[in-house]
Amino acid sequence: QLDIIKLKAAYNDQPVLENVTLSVEKGDIVSLIGPSGSGKSTLLRVLMGLLLPKEGQVVLENSVVDYTNKNALRQLRESIAIVFQQYNLFQNMTVLENVMITPTKVKGWPKKQVEHDARRLLERVGLSHRINAYPDQLSGGQQQRVAIARALALKPTILLLDEVTAALDPEMVNEVLDTIRELASEGITLFIVSHEMSFVREVSSKVVFMADGQVVETGSPQQVFDAPTHERTRQFVSKIL
Ligand code: ATP
Ligand code: MG
Repeated sequence: QLDIIKLKAAYNDQPVLENVTLSVEKGDIVSLIGPSGSGKSTLLRVLMGLLLPKEGQVVLENSVVDYTNKNALRQLRESIAIVFQQYNLFQNMTVLENVMITPTKVKGWPKKQVEHDARRLLERVGLSHRINAYPDQLSGGQQQRVAIARALALKPTILLLDEVTAALDPEMVNEVLDTIRELASEGITLFIVSHEMSFVREVSSKVVFMADGQVVETGSPQQVFDAPTHERTRQFVSKIL
């Protein structure tokens, strides 16, 4: 449902993505791995229209995304949601309000239905008992799970997760990974950037290895981790396993 074709991007004149081609099918759990600075976050930023591609195409549900068109961008952001390492919750709102705010205020969806959905989502991420808490009363892991629920409240068809556990204390990492595991098992399409390699190996349907702004290798977790065909992948994998 998402095809990235020969995408190029640059910061100022510094190229950061070169001919990136990859596809995400419905229900896929695609994990993007690679060294720091290889362009993983940049790829997600380009996908979301936060950085304009220089060349190439993104095809979403069979239509080419026009990143210069405001309407197209709005539509894109209805289909794709992203959660970052920094969860950026609204500090002056409760957990429930954080999840409800965009669907009610920006989308104008009916409040009753939004609240019903929000409560269900918070149950899914294991936070039913904390819906009236404020973010500063929660652990980092709990806040990140609220951020995931908030993204899901917009009913995206694809959820992008950019190192959502990287800023968390080690003991919080697993609860967030559990939440993602559960989403994965429910069939939502996920595009994950993560340094948690054992997790990536376990949940992914497809692993994409990037280095220096290029996709070096794509395959099943077994292929990429156990039988990499490129030297660059081999080096990376041997360092992290
Ligand atoms: P990490 O694993 O550390 O998060 P990454 O794979 O996500 O790394 P990116 O953040 O996409 O890497 O960065 C790719 C390249 O683009 C790096 O060389 C980085 O220095 C550069 N870069 C990233 N953001 C900017 C920016 N806002 N302006 C200029 N250069 C940038
Ligand atoms: Mg990054």
